[in-house]
Amino acid sequence: MTESERLFARAQAVLPGGVNSPVRAFGAVGGTPPFIQRGEGSKIYDVDGKQYIDYVCSWGPLLFGHCPQEVLEAVRKKMENGLSFGAPSRVEVEMAEMMVSMLPGMEMVRMVNSGTEAVMSALRLARGVTGRDKIVKFAGCYHGHSDSLLVRAGSGVLTDSLPDSMGVSKAAAADTLTAEYNQLSSVESLFEQHGAEIAAIVVEPVAANMGVIPPQEGFLQGLRAICDRYGALLVFDEVITGFRLAPGGAQEYYGIQADIAAFGKIIGGGMPVGAYAARRDFMKQVAPSGGIYQAGTLSGNPVAMAAGLAQLSMIQDRGDRLYQMLTGYAEKMAEGLEQSARENGISVTVNREGSLFSVFFHDGPVQNERQAKESDTQRFKHYFHGMLSRGIYLAPSQFEAVFVSAAHTQKDLEKTLAAADEVMRELAGLQALQQK
Ligand SMILES: *Cc1c(COP(=O)(O)O)cnc(C)c1O
Repeated sequence: MTESERLFARAQAVLPGGVNSPVRAFGAVGGTPPFIQRGEGSKIYDVDGKQYIDYVCSWGPLLFGHCPQEVLEAVRKKMENGLSFGAPSRVEVEMAEMMVSMLPGMEMVRMVNSGTEAVMSALRLARGVTGRDKIVKFAGCYHGHSDSLLVRAGSGVLTDSLPDSMGVSKAAAADTLTAEYNQLSSVESLFEQHGAEIAAIVVEPVAANMGVIPPQEGFLQGLRAICDRYGALLVFDEVITGFRLAPGGAQEYYGIQADIAAFGKIIGGGMPVGAYAARRDFMKQVAPSGGIYQAGTLSGNPVAMAAGLAQLSMIQDRGDRLYQMLTGYAEKMAEGLEQSARENGISVTVNREGSLFSVFFHDGPVQNERQAKESDTQRFKHYFHGMLSRGIYLAPSQFEAVFVSAAHTQKDLEKTLAAADEVMRELAGLQALQQK
């Protein structure tokens, strides 16, 4: 028995499924998740001493890989002063100023503790501002686990094939309308029926929780136009895309102004942080300056702010070069994976936008949830374990993005592509057997 197996057995007794977040349990791929002891740069090491090249990067936050010295140093320095005060502190102001300076059109922010909280609060703001109740979301987009958003959600809900969640009241879900990603007509028809009641459209500007599905030309612009026509607000869930597509996130990358944007992941540098942002006259309606209540005992925690601020400073210092490098990495990976799949006669579709990409075991385009779900998850399972056994740590689900970081190296990528080539050959062997 490995140490990971021993820990997983102990974990099952005291944590549901042995984990604190569902996808970590390897339910979709089977086997025992390695328990991670430490990370450094692009690598993680498990409790059995195995090394992996990490393409999960804490599900996105670690834009500079594990343990960047600037971030660790900022945390060390800040924690010496105390871990939390529940009173205002300087670093919260610095963090908010930094975010406002980087995000187009966003004049004020409120810090929270997770992406879930950020989107939930962003929608409360949208409802408060418009005085309307309904929201439109897209099938396969994940916006955290708040009640009203666990309707045709992506990520773990899709991975474990849970239709919705038990424990969500009908009333909580009743105001959530669902449209198809990349299909404006499905949004139009919801607005034709309910236009006067819809507070907001919430969207992942690049869907990245049903695998990566970029918006087709005109889709986000179309959402902007529909919102303007009906007086609804456009809410970008930038929990993944924020500071990953560009320093100003999807709004900068696509040149589209959202009314409210939600952040998480990267802005915490690995600490639990979320935030929502909008223009001043909206944000002023949040308590205590306005009547839309939202609070948090640990919100704006100084140590978490220090980590986030240090990471955002690194982004600012490196500028365009950083994004060119990350995009170059993703391009090289996407091309290499496509090529080895093609050479081995394995059908894959690789979707990529900037540094975000994912590999679908699918024949033909993947532009919405329905097509994503047609992927061959059995084949993904084999691919995943083939890669893991070769020291490549991918997200244990067909429906998650691959995250590259600035700590990855050309050597890492080459090693990864070599491993993928071997696994694709294995898949080709299996395919030949099945066809006999
Ligand atoms: C991860 C994620 C969330 C939820 O963030 P948590 O910090 O896990 O609560 C929300 N929206 C998107 C797009 C995400 O990827």
